Amino acid sequence: MRKRAAALSLLFCLLLTAGCSRQEEAHSEYLLAMDTVMTLTAYGESGEAGLDAAADIIRDLEGLLSVTDEASAVAELNRTGELEPVDNDLAALLDLALELGERTGGALDITVYPVVKAWGFTGDRYQVPDGEELAELLERVDWSAISWDGQRVELPEGAQVDFGALAKGYAGALSAQTLREAGVTSALLDLGGNIQTVGSKLDGSPWRIGIRDPRDPESGSYLGELELVDQAAVTSGGYQRYFEEDGETYWHIIDPATGYPARSGLISVTVVGDDGALCDGLSTALFVLGREAALDYWRTWGGFEAVLVEEDGTVTVTAGLADAFTLTGEDYTLSVAE
Ligand code: ADP
Ligand code: MG
Repeated sequence: MRKRAAALSLLFCLLLTAGCSRQEEAHSEYLLAMDTVMTLTAYGESGEAGLDAAADIIRDLEGLLSVTDEASAVAELNRTGELEPVDNDLAALLDLALELGERTGGALDITVYPVVKAWGFTGDRYQVPDGEELAELLERVDWSAISWDGQRVELPEGAQVDFGALAKGYAGALSAQTLREAGVTSALLDLGGNIQTVGSKLDGSPWRIGIRDPRDPESGSYLGELELVDQAAVTSGGYQRYFEEDGETYWHIIDPATGYPARSGLISVTVVGDDGALCDGLSTALFVLGREAALDYWRTWGGFEAVLVEEDGTVTVTAGLADAFTLTGEDYTLSVAE
């Protein structure tokens, strides 16, 4: 009798732990997409199916947006100068890109693509372009000259677009939505430094995300830590893609006003919010704008929070992150913007 009770209780324990581990099971998927390595992790029973669906969505988006894949819709738009009908995702990205183009006074400008190409940032042969060539290319950089009525998009003569400044954030947001629809309540998606979370950690505590130290990127050390629940955190940094020539550093975030890498004093911008695509677009735009204009933008439009890091070691966080951000880097000073 006692033996049987012991056996039963052992069975019960096994079932219990099996039940627990099934609930807490972590599923991970790695993929190379959008020119970066992505690590997607989701917890619980629906995790695996959810991640498969999310990975499919990311690959589909890449197939739609890639400027180097001749078969993509964006490549077709760049080749022919027009597109109709426009896929729903591309339409959503056009809406957002043009809205941010307007709100940021052109700091985010998807027509800067030919300039980015001239610098070689779309491939792996980086170079400082000739000044005259840049001036010529700049004449065609103007987001406001794109004609877009929700059905048909047309580019002005010679213009080309690239959604690289928003694509990963959009992909993260769509992936999160897919996971939620699949029943996943806890997931951490790292789309090459574009972080998107679903819910919180399994124990109910917030996700803790490290922000890289932009003055010491090689070491892999962090400048600080952010707590997130169900939000995106997207970083644009001068250290992510750059080259050096004659003692100068040139990075891949271009000021559309000059055609040169944006030198606003900011070396890293992290934008936190509910809308991953908006966070991505803004991380690039605020980097171009610089601290003061970035804070003005935040005060005017809101809907996000930010961590702004300057060359001189000043770290400014917007008021909504005062509790969620912890500074860990040495030789930095923190201030909270109201
Ligand atoms: P990453 O793609 O490295 O995460 P960003 O989101 O900041 O970084 O996007 C940078 C990319 O966006 C560049 O590689 C370039 O293709 C494009 N880009 C650079 N400057 C601008 C700009 N001012 N407006 C729109 N797109 C830009
Ligand atoms: Mg961006």
